[in-house]
Order: sequence, then C-alpha cells, then structure tokens
Amino acid sequence: MVENSELRKAGLKVTLPRVKILQMLDSAEQRHMSAEDVYKSLMDAGEDVGLATVYRVLTQFEAAGLVVRHNFDGGHAVFELADGGHHDHMVCVDTGDVIEFFDAEIEKRQKEIVREHGFELVDHNLVLYVRRNAAKP
Ligand SMILES: [Zn+2]
Repeated sequence: MVENSELRKAGLKVTLPRVKILQMLDSAEQRHMSAEDVYKSLMDAGEDVGLATVYRVLTQFEAAGLVVRHNFDGGHAVFELADGGHHDHMVCVDTGDVIEFFDAEIEKRQKEIVREHGFELVDHNLVLYVRRNAAKP
C-alpha cells in the first residue's frame, strides 16, 4: 500500500489509525480539512477512530512533514497533504471555504521587496480573506 511506504519514509510506524487518516486525506475531495472534518469523514466511512486520535495523528503527521497545518483566522486549524508545490490561500469569511492560488507576479514581487530590505526570502504564507461578490459580474 502506498500509505504504508509513505509512513515509513516519514519515519512513522505503520498503525491502522495512521493509515486510515492518511488514506482519508489522500482521497478526500476537500484538500484542506480540520481535525473534525477528518473525524467526521472517517465516521461516515464506518471507521472507528476517535477524535483525540485524529488530533494526535495529525500532529504527528505535521511533525513528520507529511501534512501542513494552517491556522487561518476565525476557524479551526486545517491540514493539507504536503504533496503539492508552493501555493497561497484565500479563505471565504462567510463559508470558511479555502481556495488555493499561485501568482508568479506576486511571488516575484515578494522576493524583490525582501531584497530591497536587505534580506532573502526564506518562506512565506499569504492568506487573503475574501467574500464572494454579491453582484454577478
Ligand atoms: Zn493549500
């Protein structure tokens, strides 16, 4: 199973809850899930994994670099698999929906601005808080 080797590669022992949670993150339509989302999806799938276990495993995954945790304002922490390339996020303040985006121009400008201040960019995290336009364009 792919999940087993991914766990081993991350230096984690293969346990049933870890495999189930990794499978869930891998197959879920939603790329950004809170611990509660993962817990509910597992319950819906008939898997018996407690919420405390979900929290613990997600924290272990984060420490092992398997998932990235985002602490967006006004919501629960959400987790996503650390498999994609770099991207930034928009969060809808009404629904909590998370939208991913990448803009080469923004990436470039950020590096330039940092350089103008005498630094080099190590990492960044850009979150835009958004609301859907009420009026149709
Ligand atoms: Zn993302």
